Amino acid sequence: MCYAIPALLIAIEGNIGIVDYFGEKRKILLDLEFEPVKVGDYIYAQGGVFVRKIAPKEAEEILAHWRNVFFELKKTDEALSRIDQDKLSSNALAILQKVNLQKTLKKSELLELFKLKAPEELSVLYEIANNVRQREHGNASCIHGIIEFSNYCSQNCCYCGIRADRVGLTRYRLEIEEILAIAKNAIDKYGFKAIVLQSGEDYWYDDAKLEKLVRNLRKMGVLVFVSLGLRSEETYRKLYKAGARAALMRFETSNEEIFSRIRPGTTLKDRLKLIRSLKDMGYVIATGFLVGLPGETDEDIVNNILLTKSLGPDMYSFGPFLPTIGTPMEKAERASKELILKTIAISRLVDYGSNILVTTALETLDKEAKREGLLAGANSMMINITPEKYRSLYAIYDNRASIDTVVSKAVQETVDLLYSLGRAPTDLGFISG
Ligand code: SAH
Ligand code: SF4
Repeated sequence: MCYAIPALLIAIEGNIGIVDYFGEKRKILLDLEFEPVKVGDYIYAQGGVFVRKIAPKEAEEILAHWRNVFFELKKTDEALSRIDQDKLSSNALAILQKVNLQKTLKKSELLELFKLKAPEELSVLYEIANNVRQREHGNASCIHGIIEFSNYCSQNCCYCGIRADRVGLTRYRLEIEEILAIAKNAIDKYGFKAIVLQSGEDYWYDDAKLEKLVRNLRKMGVLVFVSLGLRSEETYRKLYKAGARAALMRFETSNEEIFSRIRPGTTLKDRLKLIRSLKDMGYVIATGFLVGLPGETDEDIVNNILLTKSLGPDMYSFGPFLPTIGTPMEKAERASKELILKTIAISRLVDYGSNILVTTALETLDKEAKREGLLAGANSMMINITPEKYRSLYAIYDNRASIDTVVSKAVQETVDLLYSLGRAPTDLGFISG
């Protein structure tokens, strides 16, 4: 199975390439150190970053397969992205009309949208966000594979089920060769073009081990995404050099008081400093926050969205806070699905061109949540490719969705879901203006 659509490189300006697929043009960041390219080459890109070249014959075969499917999917997506504005109050409508004029919404207006409660009003908010998503991205979506390679963690985040002090949890860590074998299998079998490497803060993996992992994974022709927590800037610099091009690190909350309560021993300032440094190093950034932490207000969530935007991310990653047994926050209330859908929609209205992820944590709230998230402005997904025997041990929260879903089934379900919504996994970057 091959999910990504190859693109034709039609222009190069320095480190930026312009690519075309089926008449859609996007800008991508080239990686000339990894592989030189020229106009006329067929390539794969993920998250706006060049991944690898592809032989013309193979590219043309894949494009021939995609040609009809792509235009069919586009039609479905366009039909699902229409808006029924009649159902909206005049106040909300006035705010949302600003979106059509591409005007920046004020914080007070975002808060007003957050207060919408009536189901028919919320459905219009989601429709408008979905419409903006369609306008900015067409039917492009991206699917990344994630490998959770160690549940050892030296941190003690109060919400997290693999925190250092959690007792009764069997810990595991995978050898570098084992991680590479898992990745290779997923890439060969399912055609993944981006792999996220995630773990607790586990210093058993020193710089040399991580560099080896990244270097060999990059050689497999994928975008290497790292999600390792607070490691030193030097470590991240080395990993960039080894071929990692994307980093996933949430700041968790913009409220300093809540942050210091839930992440003892670390500061929001340090976390933000690292995220900004990663951006300066050249990493594609995925960042965001937990939604619905105890004590959080609507204004905190709006501040979280605005802080995410100010960090200049390529991808928004946020999910519901889910209380986990055996942690200091086990008795807290879980976030509601409605809160997440609103956060997705409002993020889309704040940052039109961003990629917004629907997370497994959202799916844990409700089976339909992934579909609803994709129809409320989200356009990215991750598939867990961690071997089943380790999945339940990567217990950052309880009863994670998809724990029992084998990879082949998860891939099929994801593709079925995307196709039913008219989305194509084309994720080639930003529409060329
Ligand atoms: N150790 C790394 C990466 C693994 S944790 C880090 O902390 O960055 C990845 C994400 O899981 C965290 O950013 C956090 O937002 C999320 N997470 C942890 N515990 C959670 C819980 N109980 N509910 C929902 N999300 C949780
Ligand atoms: Fe460790 Fe990340 Fe969990 Fe914090 S959220 S305890 S750093 S795995």
